[in-house]
Amino acid sequence: MSRLSVLHFPNPILKEKSLDVVPPFETYQAFANDFVETMLAFAGCVGLAAPQVGTLLRVIAVDVSRYRKPVKGHGLHLLFNPVLSQERFLLNQREGCLSVPDYTGNVPRYQALTVEGFNLRGEKIRLEVEGFEAVVFQHEIDHLNGLLFLDRVSSLKTDVFRRKSFLH
Ligand SMILES: [Zn+2]
Repeated sequence: MSRLSVLHFPNPILKEKSLDVVPPFETYQAFANDFVETMLAFAGCVGLAAPQVGTLLRVIAVDVSRYRKPVKGHGLHLLFNPVLSQERFLLNQREGCLSVPDYTGNVPRYQALTVEGFNLRGEKIRLEVEGFEAVVFQHEIDHLNGLLFLDRVSSLKTDVFRRKSFLH
């Protein structure tokens, strides 16, 4: 396994839309290992999307149990072709991104939703997520559509903040 390098804004790859992964997903076992290792290499990192490591495929990893404050969640999930549905309760809150290391932003996100996708073995996964975990899934799936949190804030002037220190 080896750690992949994380692209930073304004790398144009981060603005690209990713492609659906064609099964069998086991073909991507080696990539999946490196991808998860990369996420785990950053203390407190709770999610990663394949475009952040320069791979324009619809793959994300999420694990909110790694957050510095304890939050409710489903543990580590690596999902292929994830989709969201039944989004509810929109709320503005602060978030950051490994690809935008110097800033955080206030972003409107749904506080509850359903995530569906496939694991490495091709099994369908369906998760009811809420709170911080719901926010992370929205953030990672945005990456698959070429969107950063900077694209989601109402105003770059009032809703984006320079980090005082590097938190990731
Ligand atoms: Zn991000």
